[in-house]
Amino acid sequence: MKIEITDINLKALFLGDKGENVDIFKELLLKMIDEHVGWRQNYQPQDTPVISPFDKSSESFNNTVDHVRSVFNELSSKLRSKSLPWHTAGRFWGHMNSETLMPAIIAYTAATLWNGNNVAYESSPGTSEMEEEVGHELATLMGYQEDKGWGHICADGSIANLEGLWYARNLKSLPLAIKEVAPEHVEGKSEWQLLNMSTKEILEIMDKIPDKLDEVKAHSARSGRHLQKLGKWIIPQTKHYSWLKAADIIGIGLDNVVSIDVDHNYRMDIDKLEAKIRELAAQEIPVLGVVGVIGTTEEGQIDRVDKIVNLRDKLAKEGIYFYIHIDAAYGGYARAIFIDENNEFIDYDKLDKVYKKYGVFQEKNEWLTEDIYNSFKAMSQVETITVDPHKMGYIPYSAGAITVKDSRMRDAISYFATYVFEKGADIPALLGAYILEGSKAGATAAAVWTAHKVLPLNVMGYGKLMGASIEGAFHFYHFLKDREFHVNGKTIKVYPLTKPDFNMIDYVFNEVGNTDLGVMNKLNHDFFGHASYAKGGLYYNEFLTSHTDFAVPDYGNSPLPFVKSLGFSEEEWAREQKVTVLRASAMSPYVNDKEVFDEYAVKIEAAIQTKLETIYNDYQQA
Ligand SMILES: *Cc1c(COP(=O)(O)O)cnc(C)c1O
Repeated sequence: MKIEITDINLKALFLGDKGENVDIFKELLLKMIDEHVGWRQNYQPQDTPVISPFDKSSESFNNTVDHVRSVFNELSSKLRSKSLPWHTAGRFWGHMNSETLMPAIIAYTAATLWNGNNVAYESSPGTSEMEEEVGHELATLMGYQEDKGWGHICADGSIANLEGLWYARNLKSLPLAIKEVAPEHVEGKSEWQLLNMSTKEILEIMDKIPDKLDEVKAHSARSGRHLQKLGKWIIPQTKHYSWLKAADIIGIGLDNVVSIDVDHNYRMDIDKLEAKIRELAAQEIPVLGVVGVIGTTEEGQIDRVDKIVNLRDKLAKEGIYFYIHIDAAYGGYARAIFIDENNEFIDYDKLDKVYKKYGVFQEKNEWLTEDIYNSFKAMSQVETITVDPHKMGYIPYSAGAITVKDSRMRDAISYFATYVFEKGADIPALLGAYILEGSKAGATAAAVWTAHKVLPLNVMGYGKLMGASIEGAFHFYHFLKDREFHVNGKTIKVYPLTKPDFNMIDYVFNEVGNTDLGVMNKLNHDFFGHASYAKGGLYYNEFLTSHTDFAVPDYGNSPLPFVKSLGFSEEEWAREQKVTVLRASAMSPYVNDKEVFDEYAVKIEAAIQTKLETIYNDYQQA
């Protein structure tokens, strides 16, 4: 039975900032526990229980149970005293922690009772099927063809990125391996041409030589050959640091990672990308691949994927081909806000009407621009995409995922360990042979599967949750913009970094008249201290935020325009080499409601005032 609901109420999907929905939570969790126990009881009822009433009344049993109880007292105390109050509707504007979907928590918890291991179908048929389904749903969300695309859950975005680079490395090396094993298929091609073959061409040759597949793979980069020939892995300055780890582990090495400057919107500068690729080509250095980011980790900005794709297609005509991986670990789920109930990407000029129909935004939202729209749209044209359910999917950790445009690409990385897997068996029978990891939780698949059933990956489902998050972020952005605080006769102003492309807001405080960048950096660092565990405490903290540094080693001079706009000189930037910014990943699903936000605005304004007073009083005493 297909259950359809067109007016999802987000308030029914979370435990609630004061646990308002605890009755529903307990009802469903208890039902799942009862049914699990019933399942145990009804299996071979002629077998009598192994733990007898006599066992249960023995002294050692009871002592042990009390021991367990006291351990739980300790656990609870630790969790209550050392956790972030991210559940709050409007006081937590910090790191990417947030309320997660209640159905996903229940599904995860319930599924741990079955202890499924999705490494092999044999060990967990039910949750393996769920993972297969979820992988296809995510591939479809990215716009991949339903019968071609593929995806799976992995531990996190770092692993998904590592896997993306693994795909790129092995694929890119296949033509060199074909030249050694089946040279007739690449006759007359120079090494430069071999290293610039498109993924499509490579897959077509592989299709023609199924019986040589194993031998070709044995000659590919996995053998340790060709690694230094594959060329550069190009990332934007805003990259997640997992890319450095990936280049390190995959063996192409950090020297082959090239970073491209970002523009004033903190999106990769595509002109500089083109110039860099041409400069490399002029020296016959190939490009292994280019990474674009959908939702940069520190700024939430959206790279121009459409322009990266256009550049690839343009350069392909000149014999230069690069693989594209989109790192949408953070923002991938947001593609749902553009997808209709038939999985079609909605036309730009129809969006407002659709958003109104499904209540995606409560007021007219200024968020969307054609740039952002086109970037999301073009994701369907890249080889692989990282998309983390545990980020904007609002699923409990640990749930990352990767999607693959053409499932034939799996042949470039697959392994067959015969003791677990039967070669030739169908996916998902041998998931572990096609992915980086081995044993993996069936519970995660159950959580993601349930969330996708409750909230379909389209504008009516996840799209609505994304809308709530974005609208809340824009309320916070407007709250901060041009706001002033008055402390000890001084005026402190708030400056957002950019108009957000998504739901993350970076901002700084600066004292009016201050032209010393070091002083501003210290103020923001101190503010972070008081608005976090560092100095401000957790549970009794009235406003929490996060922070980051944009420093020259990562960002080059890209932050300079922002720094100058605040009145600092270039000399100050050259001296300080970094700007410290505060950062809010606005994931609360509640503050899209302007009334709720306004209630909290008064409280967080007062909390910020108090923190600034504490900081300035400390300065005076120092
Ligand atoms: C969070 C993030 C990652 C890494 O994901 P983890 O799940 O933390 O390993 C990679 N890339 C981007 C853009 C991210 O935001």
